Amino acid sequence: MKSGKRNLVEKLSGAEGLSFLKNFPLSSLTAIGTGGRARYYASVERVSALQKLLKELDGPFFILGSGTNLLLSDRDFPGVMIHLGRSFRRLRQSEGKITCGAAVPLARLVERAVAASFAGFEELSGVPGSVGGAAAMNAGTHIKELGDLVESLCMVDTSGRRRFFSKGQLRPSYRSSLAPVPGVITTLTFLRQPGGDPERQRGRALELQNGRKLKHPWQEKTFGSTFKNPPGMIAAKLIDQAELKGFRIGGAQVSPKHANFIENNRGAGALDILELIKHVRRVVRTRFGITLEPEVRLVGFTREELGELAPYAVSPPGKV
Ligand SMILES: Cc1cc2nc3c(=O)[nH]c(=O)nc-3n(C[C@H](O)[C@H](O)[C@H](O)COP(=O)(O)OP(=O)(O)OC[C@H]3O[C@@H](n4cnc5c(N)ncnc54)[C@H](O)[C@@H]3O)c2cc1C
Repeated sequence: MKSGKRNLVEKLSGAEGLSFLKNFPLSSLTAIGTGGRARYYASVERVSALQKLLKELDGPFFILGSGTNLLLSDRDFPGVMIHLGRSFRRLRQSEGKITCGAAVPLARLVERAVAASFAGFEELSGVPGSVGGAAAMNAGTHIKELGDLVESLCMVDTSGRRRFFSKGQLRPSYRSSLAPVPGVITTLTFLRQPGGDPERQRGRALELQNGRKLKHPWQEKTFGSTFKNPPGMIAAKLIDQAELKGFRIGGAQVSPKHANFIENNRGAGALDILELIKHVRRVVRTRFGITLEPEVRLVGFTREELGELAPYAVSPPGKV
């Protein structure tokens, strides 16, 4: 039988590779700067500890990567916020293969892969976040997504079972998880594809990074693209054409630099940002008849707060 949250923490707090912090503040862990306190913040250092945790857990939980694609409610999170610790930051390279922990920053993977002439990784240059988060979002650009490069994925599913999925079993689709089942992604492997040339790849990576600096409000607090691009269209263009650049609700503003980014530039609360997302969506629908779908993960809001965004929210909290 699974135990309740209080018993769970008492029961597991001595487990090796698992530590809990109570009432842990989350806002500094999200790039946009929102979030309340997590009832428990679980730092995991071993796969076996993660298995125990997921097996016992029956309350709400959520996996926190680097927090670059999240809008967390400012309400306290009533469950367990799971975070993979340092031991998931290992990256091993053998001839033709990279094995990478899910907590490795994507930038580090890209750098190593390019240096070892793994073709294609340069196209992900400048995408922030962790490798696990990138796998959970199939992060990338219109040219390359992480799913194009992954050879296999290891994870622990929500019942605590270790699972292995090879390339053919993954589910690569636009900005949704590569994992075929819910759970915590722990390790990914990548094989070297032909056509790599570190010098050319580094040049391309630099070009992309410079392009991002010009186009994105990289000095502001944001969560990257607010909306997915509708098929054959670009969300930023629609928002721009709807003359919403610079539009503000409270401390949240549609970026004057890139219309699909929202900036938290005056101490916005999560609800300011949520209202701004809804407003942009309504205006674009009224002007062009197109309903934009959020790319950012909305976590911890009530159905009333979410309104028409409810179908897109992570619900119930913790089901990744
Ligand atoms: C300035 C800026 C630019 C950006 N540009 C891009 C871009 O060009 N392309 C793009 O695709 N994205 C972009 N993003 C969004 C973001 O960087 C990516 O989605 C990133 O991959 C998220 O990784 P993360 O570790 O921050 O995940 P988080 O934001 O922490 O989490 C995102 C989702 O992944 C889940 N998750 C995280 N780790 C795991 C894990 N180990 N196992 C299972 N689930 C997990 C979380 O539960 C959540 O649902 C940008 C963001 C910013 C702030």
